This record gives sequence, C-alpha cells and structure tokens, in this order.
Amino acid sequence: MTELLFRDDAYATEFEAEVLSARPGAVVLDRSLFYPEGGGQPGDTGLLRLADGRELKVTDARKGEAPGEVLHLLADAGELVPAGTRLQGRIDWERRHRLMRMHTCLHILSAVILAPVTGGAVGDGYGRLDFDLPESPEREEVQEKLNALIRRDAPVAFRWISEAELDARPELVKTMSVQPPRGRGEVRLVEVEGIDLQPCGGTHVQRIGEIGEVVISKVEKKGKQNRRVRLEFPGTAPTLNP
Ligand SMILES: [Zn+2]
Repeated sequence: MTELLFRDDAYATEFEAEVLSARPGAVVLDRSLFYPEGGGQPGDTGLLRLADGRELKVTDARKGEAPGEVLHLLADAGELVPAGTRLQGRIDWERRHRLMRMHTCLHILSAVILAPVTGGAVGDGYGRLDFDLPESPEREEVQEKLNALIRRDAPVAFRWISEAELDARPELVKTMSVQPPRGRGEVRLVEVEGIDLQPCGGTHVQRIGEIGEVVISKVEKKGKQNRRVRLEFPGTAPTLNP
C-alpha cells in the first residue's frame, strides 16, 4: 500500500519515501504525493532524487496492480531502483496546480448545467464534461454563470462518508461514468461551499478564486442526447486542447 499524501495536503510538493517494489522503469513507493491517474484526472509528473544526487524523471503515475498502490513510471524504461531504496520525490507543482484548478472548475460547471454528467476529463489547461442533454446550453451564458460562481471564492472542504451512506444518497453521484473510488469502506466527499457536493478522490484547490477566469471554448453535439462542454484557461495554446 502507498500512503496517499496528496489526500492530506494537496499543496505539498516534496516528500521522502522508500521503494516498496520495482520493475525496470517503474517503482511503487511506501508513500507518495504523486496522484495516480483516475477519476478523469491525469497522473502527476515530477522527479525522484536518490541519495547520490541522481534525479529520475517521473513521466506519469498510475494505480498499481495491488489496491492502494501508486506506480511511478520513469522516463528511463530500463532504470531499476531496488526495493528498500530511500529517496526524495518532487511533483511538477505548476502542472499539478493547473490540474487542480481545472478539476475543481469542472465540479462547479456541473452545478451550472443541471443535467446528468456522462463523462469528463481534466487536462493541463483545459477540460471537458459531457452532459445527458437534448439541447445545447448557451455557451456565453454558461461561461458567465461559471465565472460569477468562481468569483465568489468559496472554500472547498472534504469529508468522508461510509459507502452505505453514499448508497442511501445516490443523488450525490453526478457522474454516471466515473464512480468514486470504493473498496475502503469510505468515500470522500468534496464540497464547494454553497455550490456543489459530490464524491471525488481527486486533488482540489482550497478556494475557488484560485481557479481564475475560464473560457467555455466550445459546446459540441456528441449524439442525440449528449452535449460536450469544453473549457480552458485563457492563453492555453489551441494545439494543447484537442
Ligand atoms: Zn472530481
């Protein structure tokens, strides 16, 4: 099991850890700040520094084979770091912060467009949500409402409920395609105060004012009953938002 340090502090950037197991090009650590890809949020990137000063680039983080493990994928696919090795880790904070801002922003968007969410993805500087909707929402109106909510600068809070409590309140799960991580008996709820409440294991900003201004770049028809809403931070290169 990897202790998931980003759960306690989404703003921490450096940590110390020990290698639990490894194969060429990948290590599992006993504790980590690297968020493993899941719930629509990409895995973190960064580096691992060995005692001799050598730095290994981490290109992605994924859930490992055993439950609760974080697998750190190394840029050098041949690199083998023996179990028991002590090291220091550092995530690419600027990228992670952009991912956090976009992830929290998508939660707020789900409170602006009141329809079931059928899919979604967080990208670096952009994101999208798919809604079960027969008509396209008006782009500028959605953008205005979303930015007005962000300007309220509401705090974001976390609390845990049992899986049984969640089953008794199915209305909390807005995302039909992305179910909250289960199996530990408890599920984490993310509350944007006064705006949104839903289960989510991702990383989020402390206050939504940190998100800053966002642009709804496109509203697309993706099937009879599906509307895809794409958003991005101003200044994101179009090539980065496929
Ligand atoms: Zn989420």
